[in-house]
Amino acid sequence: MNATKSALYKKLEDSLVGAVSPRLIESGQGAYLTIASREMLNMCSSHYLGFAQDDRIKKAVHEAIEKYGIGTGYRTLAGTHVLHIELETALARFKGAEAAILLSSGYMANLAAIQTLFGKEDIIISDALNHASIIDAVRLSQAKNKFIYKHADMGDLAEQLKLAGELTKIPKVNGEAPQILIVTDGVFSMDGDLAPLPEIVELAEEYGALVMVDDAHGEGVVGRGGRGIVDHFGLHGKVDIEVGTLSKAFSAQGGFIAGKKTLIDFYKKNARQFLFSIALTIPDTAAVLEGVKILEESAEPVEKLWENAKYLREKLSALGFDCGNSESPITPVMLGDEDKSVMMSAKLFEEGVFATPIKFPMVPKGAARIRLIPSAAHSRVDLDLAISAFKKVGKELGVIA
Ligand SMILES: *Cc1c(COP(=O)(O)O)cnc(C)c1O
Repeated sequence: MNATKSALYKKLEDSLVGAVSPRLIESGQGAYLTIASREMLNMCSSHYLGFAQDDRIKKAVHEAIEKYGIGTGYRTLAGTHVLHIELETALARFKGAEAAILLSSGYMANLAAIQTLFGKEDIIISDALNHASIIDAVRLSQAKNKFIYKHADMGDLAEQLKLAGELTKIPKVNGEAPQILIVTDGVFSMDGDLAPLPEIVELAEEYGALVMVDDAHGEGVVGRGGRGIVDHFGLHGKVDIEVGTLSKAFSAQGGFIAGKKTLIDFYKKNARQFLFSIALTIPDTAAVLEGVKILEESAEPVEKLWENAKYLREKLSALGFDCGNSESPITPVMLGDEDKSVMMSAKLFEEGVFATPIKFPMVPKGAARIRLIPSAAHSRVDLDLAISAFKKVGKELGVIA
């Protein structure tokens, strides 16, 4: 190997010292997981509704595989399957949007949503705590004017919009006015708080800005029967671009964008992530089709999820834990100290509770925590097990009195 190349590999190797491998999961994703042959209570996956183990969904997937097999193809070549169109129609109906386009993940959907529509001379204004895939999407657009507003701070957003408004007076090379995009997570994944979407929409209207929301942790969770954050705030037709993932509450893989038909058709014609990456597989597509059907028939899974979330938070708060200011089932147990979060997670593991630590760079330094996500699959007994483990371990570590 030449010297430059071996120096690179040496550097990579050095950077890996102390890296922790994730725990190996030996079972399906249910209320419990098998790790190292031990049954562990699963308190940190984002299978909000228990759909990863749902019998109806498993049956629908089996049937689809029997009928169609596994793979599809590239959407614009020979890969657009009738199930893809059925799912796009179902997702659009579920979200109350005109149309939807499927992509291979939520990450890809964010890249497609922004890169396809906005360029160098457009202006993008982004919440400081937005997901990494939104940050990458903004980079990919090559927009020169990127602004970040303080998390959910509408005064700051108004300031940035004023600046952006001035910039729109300078026409683009092609003579058009630059577009302004305001982009935000719907439910913030680390804290569980909601974007102040009604205020964002109001400000956007004042400046003619477009609004995009990433509803990854909102679908299947907030809004009527889990229809998402736009439904939660009754803002149908006022949010231009809604991105979703099929990997969280829907327990499969894939992502989508919902919006006006013209916009979605434009993405279908132009989005590089759509044109040059594979379409969803049959099992994923069939799983989500059945998931949407379940949610359209009954709000029960979503109600169960919220009941569990409320119970868990009330009990942990009563014990003296700081559960932050979440407005969703995401339940952070704030610890602050990085080492304490690692230690707490390890001790919980000994008690049979699987809950991973969240620390820098996922959250700012000094804001380490254990993030719990209860699901509709948990019973009261399960939650009580988690609560008593937290009580024991929290006392041992001096987190609670
Ligand atoms: C998980 C998540 C994504 C990525 O979705 P995938 O389908 O897993 O790629 C995007 N945005 C947010 C806010 C997320 O939480």
